[in-house]
Amino acid sequence: MGAAIRHFTATTEQGQVFTVNIERDFRYDPYRDFLVCAHCEWCPSLLTTERIIDMAGEHLASVHGAGRGLTQQENESFRKGRLIVLPIVALVLIGLLFLLKG
Ligand SMILES: [Zn+2]
Repeated sequence: MGAAIRHFTATTEQGQVFTVNIERDFRYDPYRDFLVCAHCEWCPSLLTTERIIDMAGEHLASVHGAGRGLTQQENESFRKGRLIVLPIVALVLIGLLFLLKG
């Protein structure tokens, strides 16, 4: 499967943490995102008008009893990767602007 780019976590009354991941599969062009539960086989279609965090929260609460403190968190390495790419894109754009002026 793809790389997990975002995590949704919630805890149960007993403090047990459950996680649902968004996995991005780069084998497709354009890439595709999948919602995957880390604890069961749940993998719903994302072709829906529902917000993903709502779907994740509802699954965690109804199936795993984790209805507390729903949070979403971007994957650390994915976030860092984007932080590196952004300045490079900015530099290329600035370079293009200078080329067009000259
Ligand atoms: Zn599940």
